[in-house]
Amino acid sequence: MEFSILADAFSKMELTTKRLELTQYLVELFKKTPHDVISRTVYLLQGKLRPDFEGVELGVAEKLAIRAIAKSAGLDNAEKKIEEEYRKSGDLGHAASKILEQKKQTTFIVEYITIERVYENLYTIAKLEGSKTQDRKIKYISGLLNDASPVEAKFILKILLGTLRLGIAENTVMDALAIAFTDNKENRKVLEHAYNVSSDLGKVAETIAKKGLAGIEEFKINLFNPIRPMLADRVKSEEEAIEKLGIKFAAEYKLDGERVQLHIEGDKVVLFSRSLENITSYYPDIVEKIPKTILAQKVILEAEAVAINENTGEFLPFQELMHRRRKYEIEKAVLQYPITVNFFDVLYYDGKSCLELEYKERRSLLEKIIKEDDFAKYVPMSYISNQNEIEEFLENSINSGCEGVMLKMLDKPYHAGARGSFWLKLKREYRNELGDSLDLVVIGAFFGKGRRTGKYGTFLLASCDYDTDTFTSICKVGTGFKDEDLDQIYQILSNKVTIKKNPRIDSKMEADVWFEPELVIEIVASEITLSPIHMAARNKIRKDTGLALRFPKFTGKIRLEKDADDASTNEEVLTLFKGQKKVAHDRNLM
Ligand code: ATP
Repeated sequence: MEFSILADAFSKMELTTKRLELTQYLVELFKKTPHDVISRTVYLLQGKLRPDFEGVELGVAEKLAIRAIAKSAGLDNAEKKIEEEYRKSGDLGHAASKILEQKKQTTFIVEYITIERVYENLYTIAKLEGSKTQDRKIKYISGLLNDASPVEAKFILKILLGTLRLGIAENTVMDALAIAFTDNKENRKVLEHAYNVSSDLGKVAETIAKKGLAGIEEFKINLFNPIRPMLADRVKSEEEAIEKLGIKFAAEYKLDGERVQLHIEGDKVVLFSRSLENITSYYPDIVEKIPKTILAQKVILEAEAVAINENTGEFLPFQELMHRRRKYEIEKAVLQYPITVNFFDVLYYDGKSCLELEYKERRSLLEKIIKEDDFAKYVPMSYISNQNEIEEFLENSINSGCEGVMLKMLDKPYHAGARGSFWLKLKREYRNELGDSLDLVVIGAFFGKGRRTGKYGTFLLASCDYDTDTFTSICKVGTGFKDEDLDQIYQILSNKVTIKKNPRIDSKMEADVWFEPELVIEIVASEITLSPIHMAARNKIRKDTGLALRFPKFTGKIRLEKDADDASTNEEVLTLFKGQKKVAHDRNLM
C-alpha cells in the first residue's frame, strides 16, 4: 500500500483532538488497508514497530536525523538551513518537509514509497548494530527521504524520532477495528479480550481483518507474550470491604515491591513488568533460581519481587528495589539489593489458560506448582470472613513491612486488563480519609524561584479519563520534593518537553512548559474539592466544575514502572470524592 495513504490519514488526525473524528479517520484507513499490512499500519500509527513488550526501539537522535535530511536535500549549507527551520517550528519533521519541498520543486519524482518499504527500512534501522551504525542509519534514512514526498518525509521523521503523537489511545484503535470489520462498535469488548491476553494490538488487528470475529474468539494465550494485568479497586475501610465482598474471601499481604509476570518454559525465563516491559535483565537471580522451584513444564505466574533485609528477612520498601533498574553492574546490584519472589497467581499452566478458573482453584494450583524455599515464596494468604479478621490481618501485614492487604473474591476468574471489584486493596493510608495516594501524570511545569531558579519548582498533574481518552488536570504540586527528586524529575522530563500541548491533555491552566503525558508520580492530598479550573471529572458532580486535590504533596515515589494510561482514573477520583462526603456525613450524624 502507498505510504501516502497513511501520511494523509496522519495529517488529518493531527488536526483533531475529538475521539469520534479520530475513530472515523481510523475506520476509513483500516477499510483501505490490505490485510497483510494492517498490523504494521497499527504499530506505525502508535509510533512503534512492534508491540512494547518486544522492546524494539528506534531511538534515532536529532543530530543524526539532521545529517540524513541534509544528505537527502543536497542543498548548500543544508544542515544549517534545517536547524534554522527547526528552531522556527520546533518540529524536526516539519522542518524536513519544508527543506525537502525546495528540492522536490526541482526534481521529478517517479517512484512512490509503500508502507512495506518504510516499515522494513525503519525496522532495519532499529536493529542495526556493530561498526559504522551511524553512517548506515543515515544511509537508510536519506534513501527513504529521497523517494518520499515532503508530507511523507515529515511523518517518517516523526516516527524515527519518537515524536509522532497523534493522541490515539488503544481503545480508540479497537473501536475503529470493531466498526471497520464487524460494523458494530459493541464488538470492541471481544477485541479487548484478545488484546488483554496478547498485549499485541497489531496481531488483534490482523486477526479481525483476516478471520473476523471467529478468529478473535479463538485468541489464545501464548507463552512469552505478556498478559495485561488484573487490577484492584481501592477501599478505605474494613466496613467498605465487607460490604463489597460478602461472607468469605481471601486476604493477602499487599507487598511493596515490583509486580513481575514470569513466563517459564524449562530453563527459559522471561519477566515482564506491570506495564509489560521486558525486565528480565534486572533480575538474573530470578532467571537462575526460579526454574528449580517450579513443578511444571510451561507456566505463566505472577509475583511481587520485594527487596529484603537479608539478616532479618524483613521486607524493605519499593524504592530499594528501584536500585536494580540499571544497565550496568547488575550483578553487583543483585548482591547489594537481595530480594524474595512472592507468588500470588497462576495464569497459564502446561498448555492451558487458568484465567477462567476461580481464585481458590488458582491459589491451590499455585501451591502445587511452586516448591517454596528462601527465595521463592507464596504471598501470605488467609481465608477470612469478618471485619475483625481483616483488621488483624492488616496489622500483621503492616508490621511485616507491607503496604496493606489485597482482598480477593473466592469464586471469581482472573480478569486480565481490567480494574474491578473482584480484587480490592486496602492500604494503611486509605484508613485515614485525608491521606489517599494517587498516581498522577506530569503534564506541565512552572519554573521555580529562589533556590529552584532555572529548574521546575511546581508541576501540573493530571488524572486519566477513560471516557474521553484524555489526561485531565487535577492539581499543581510543589511540596514534598527533595532537591535530588527535583533533579531526577528534571532529567526524566528533559526529553518529554513539547512545543504545543499534546491533544490528549485537557487543561485550562497554562503551564510554563508542557510535557508528553508519560511520567507518573505518587501524590497524597488532604482532600478532594470542587474546582472551576481543573478538568478532572468535569460536569460529573456539577456543571462546568471539575475536581481538584487540596494540599497535594509528592510522596517521594516516581512510578517508573507505570505508564500514563495506568495512572489514577477520574472514576477512582470520583469514588474517593463521594467516599469522603459519606465519611463527613456519617461523622455529622454521630
Ligand atoms: P498501587 O499503586 O497500589 O501499587 P497499582 O495501580 O499498581 O496499585 P493495583 O491493582 O491497584 O495496581 O494494586 C495491585 C498492585 O499491588 C499490583 O500491581 C502489585 O504490584 C501489588 N501487589 C502486592 N501484593 C499483591 C498481591 N498479593 N496481589 C496482587 N497484587 C499485589
